[in-house]
Amino acid sequence: MFDSLSDRLSEAFKNFKGQGRLDEKNIQDGMREVRLALLEADVNFKVVKEFVEKVKERALGQEVQKNLSVGQQVIKIVNEELTLLLGGEQEGLVLKGKPAKIMMVGLQGAGKTTSAAKIALYLRRKKYKPYLVPADVYRPAAIEQLTVLAKQLDMPVYPSTTEMNPVDICRDAIVKAEEAGCDVMLLDTAGRLHIDELLMEELAGIKAACSPDEILFVADAMTGQDAVNVAATFDEKLDVTGVVLTKMDGDARGGAALSIKSVTGKCVKFVGMGEKLSDLELFYPDRAASRILGMGDVLSLIEKAQSVMEEGEAEKLTEKFRKAKFDLEDFRTQMRRMKKIGSMGSILKLIPGLGGLSKQLGDIDMPDKELNRIEAIISSMTMEERKTPKLINPSRRKRIAKGSGVELADVNSMLKNFDQMSKMMKKMMGGKGGMGKMPQMP
Ligand code: GDP
Repeated sequence: MFDSLSDRLSEAFKNFKGQGRLDEKNIQDGMREVRLALLEADVNFKVVKEFVEKVKERALGQEVQKNLSVGQQVIKIVNEELTLLLGGEQEGLVLKGKPAKIMMVGLQGAGKTTSAAKIALYLRRKKYKPYLVPADVYRPAAIEQLTVLAKQLDMPVYPSTTEMNPVDICRDAIVKAEEAGCDVMLLDTAGRLHIDELLMEELAGIKAACSPDEILFVADAMTGQDAVNVAATFDEKLDVTGVVLTKMDGDARGGAALSIKSVTGKCVKFVGMGEKLSDLELFYPDRAASRILGMGDVLSLIEKAQSVMEEGEAEKLTEKFRKAKFDLEDFRTQMRRMKKIGSMGSILKLIPGLGGLSKQLGDIDMPDKELNRIEAIISSMTMEERKTPKLINPSRRKRIAKGSGVELADVNSMLKNFDQMSKMMKKMMGGKGGMGKMPQMP
C-alpha cells in the first residue's frame, strides 16, 4: 500500500537537499512536487490543495530547528499533516449494546461479507462471542457465502433465507444471538452495483430496527475517489460510524485512504490486506503516514507477527534480536509462521531499511516455493550450524547445497540475507526494553 506515493514523495524531498534554509522559493518548488505526488495517488484535489497550503504555511512560519536539516523539517511537518489527513488518532470499535451490533454497508463487491467474517475473527481474538447475520437476501449466494465463512470460523450464524425480509432477519437475530450466548452481532447487509433509493430505505429500516453500535461503510480502496463519493452518500443517509477499506493489498494508490476523513469526517477503522480471514488490520493513521514517508512501521509488524505467535514468544524473539542470538533455527520457525501470515516480503517491507532486502529476496509476495527452498536449506544444516551460522565455511556450504538440492549461490545468498537481517534487527531492537526506538527520519 502507498508504494508509488512513497517513491514520489521521497523524490520530492530531494529538492530540499543541500538547501541552507527554508524560504518561499524552495518551499514552493518542493511542495509543487508533493502536490503532484498526491494528485497522482488519486487524492481528492480539494484535499490536496488544503494540505499543501497548510504545510507551506507551517514550513514558512516555523522557527529554524538547529538539529534538523531543511529536508527533515519539511518531512516532519508533512508527517504530522499526513497523520491528520489519514484520521489523526486510531479509532477502534465502540461496542456498548448487549449484544453489540455492527452493521456492514457498502456497494456490492466492496468486501462486506468477507470483512464481516474478518471482524468477527478479530473480535473473537479479543474474547468476544460473535454471531453472524446474513441479511443480503438479493445477491445470489450471499447468504451461503457468510454461512460457509461462519462454518470455517466455527461461529454461529443466523439461518436466513432469500424469502425473508431483511429487517425481520435482523430483529429476530438479536433474540437468537442472545439465546446462543453471543455478545456481538455482525449484520451483513445487501449492496447494489450503484447506490439506489430502495437500498438506502432498506438500510435505514435496519438501522431503525436495531440501532447498531457501529455502522461500517466498506469500500474497495482500488476504486479511489469513487469510493470516497459513495462513502459521502452512505454517510448522508445513514450517518456511518467508520470505514473499512478493503483490497489495500492490491495496487490501490492511496487516494481513498487519504481523502475519506477530510471528505466525510469519518475515520478508517480497519484495512483489508488480502483475501484470507486473518488479513485485516486496525488502521493507525500515524503508522500509515510513517509508512508513506518510508520510515517503516515497526509496530504493525510486531502486531502482525504476534497474531500468529504463542504468548510470550514475541518477547523472547525481541530479546534474541537484541542480544544478536537470533539463529537459523529461530529463522526456520519464523519462516513457517510467515507462511501463515502471508508473504515474507510484506513483513520485511514493514521494517525500516529492510525494504531493499525484500526486493533482494525476490518477489514481494514470496511464493511458498521460495519459502520452502529456504526452509530446505536450513533443514540441511546440522543443529550446531543453525545455532552458530559462523561455522558454515565453504565446504559446509557445498554440502548443504547438495543436501537441499539447490545451487551453492543460493546457500550463499540465503546466509548473506540472514546475516543482514540479523544485523538490522539488532539495530532496530537496540535501546532499553520493548521494541527499541524508531529509526531516525531519513
Ligand atoms: P460484498 O459483495 O461486499 O459482500 O463483497 P465480498 O465480501 O463478497 O468480496 C468481494 C471480493 O473481494 C471477494 O472475492 C473477496 O475475496 C475480495 N476481497 C474482500 N476483501 C479483500 C481484501 O482486503 N483484499 C483482497 N485482495 N480481496 C478482498
